[in-house]
Amino acid sequence: MLESKLPALGTTIFSRMSALAAQHEALNLSQGCPDFDAPEALREALCRHTMAGHNQYAPLAGTPQLREQVAAQLLRYRGTRCDPDSEITVVPGATEGLFCAITACVHPGDEVIVFDPCYDSYQPAVEMAGGRAVHLPLAAPGFTVDWERVAAAVNARTRLVIINSPHNPTGSTLSRADLLQLQALTERHDLLVISDEVYEHMVFDGRAHHSVLQFEGLRQRSFAVFSFGKTFGVTGWKTGYCVAPPELTRELRKIHQYVSFVAVTPVQLAIADFMRDEPGYPATLAAFYQRKRDLFCRALRDSRFTLQPSAGTYFQLLDYSAISGEVDTRLCETWTRSPGVASIPVSVFYQHPPEQHYLRFCFAKSDAVLQEAADLLCRI
Ligand code: PMP
Ligand code: GLN
Repeated sequence: MLESKLPALGTTIFSRMSALAAQHEALNLSQGCPDFDAPEALREALCRHTMAGHNQYAPLAGTPQLREQVAAQLLRYRGTRCDPDSEITVVPGATEGLFCAITACVHPGDEVIVFDPCYDSYQPAVEMAGGRAVHLPLAAPGFTVDWERVAAAVNARTRLVIINSPHNPTGSTLSRADLLQLQALTERHDLLVISDEVYEHMVFDGRAHHSVLQFEGLRQRSFAVFSFGKTFGVTGWKTGYCVAPPELTRELRKIHQYVSFVAVTPVQLAIADFMRDEPGYPATLAAFYQRKRDLFCRALRDSRFTLQPSAGTYFQLLDYSAISGEVDTRLCETWTRSPGVASIPVSVFYQHPPEQHYLRFCFAKSDAVLQEAADLLCRI
């Protein structure tokens, strides 16, 4: 019989909560995806390319058109120059890019520093590569990194640090000072970095996103992973990209070519057209999602939840300690059934969940759904 490589693992919380929401016809604020459609020009471009017969394999690294648009966007938004041929790889979703980058970095026995609460796809990839994830806490309520603690966790087996900013599930962001600390630490100990920046354009209240690509020392040792699904509101298109120096990109592509080989051709061509025609689109996202965050938070003013407005992503944490002492995994199921709002329990993103009571709500939803969800939550 097959011996499980991941015996402790079940189906992801996102699939489980979305299924439960569908079963109980609840408002689904659990899984992170918009309930409204992507720009029409983008959807039309996909029809156009598939009808024009662009339906066979793309080049391994991604279509040149899309990689050139990515390079132009990195220059425009981050002020950094990347070579489309040797540094940019289009992948079928950030999840695949993260898996390939982790697999490229981690050898059996290596330790990988991750921060809890931690996005759920990192640890299984680390383990399948024979590594061990070392979990360090982000301290509530700000969910900031304690760099002294990180430094103390580094030893001769440490190979890689995985960061995620803006952060899922907490909505916190790393500052420039954080990235400088990371740079100094990784240079001192010669560590690699994977930087999950899929929410790079959803940063609020006038803050800037800080990318590893903007710090020369970090850029030399990092894989930065992005998702067109998040930026263009097409999570079902499962397309993203990974930026890394040529030496790291070569290793990433060796894995990528046997995990999926390539990403979907007409999707790549459609995104490239949209990026060429609407280069300013990503810059509109911060205001668009900040307004939704504010609508949701304002509508919860009379509830018994407490909250700190999210600094980035399209997620809002709500603290329910004034309402119940119940564990979040059970409570979010109860509230999906009645009053009928589905969310994500934050404890599942921890190796050792602390004594806290947070649920994560996705506000990439229509205004009417956000208002209705908040009205229902106010009755709890
Ligand atoms: N990283 C984080 C932090 C995410 O929230 C997600 C979910 N979208 C991903 C990676 C995966 O992105 P994709 O759908 O492009 O695989
Ligand atoms: N990243 C999305 C979220 O956090 C979900 C992705 C998934 O379902 N795997 O909700």
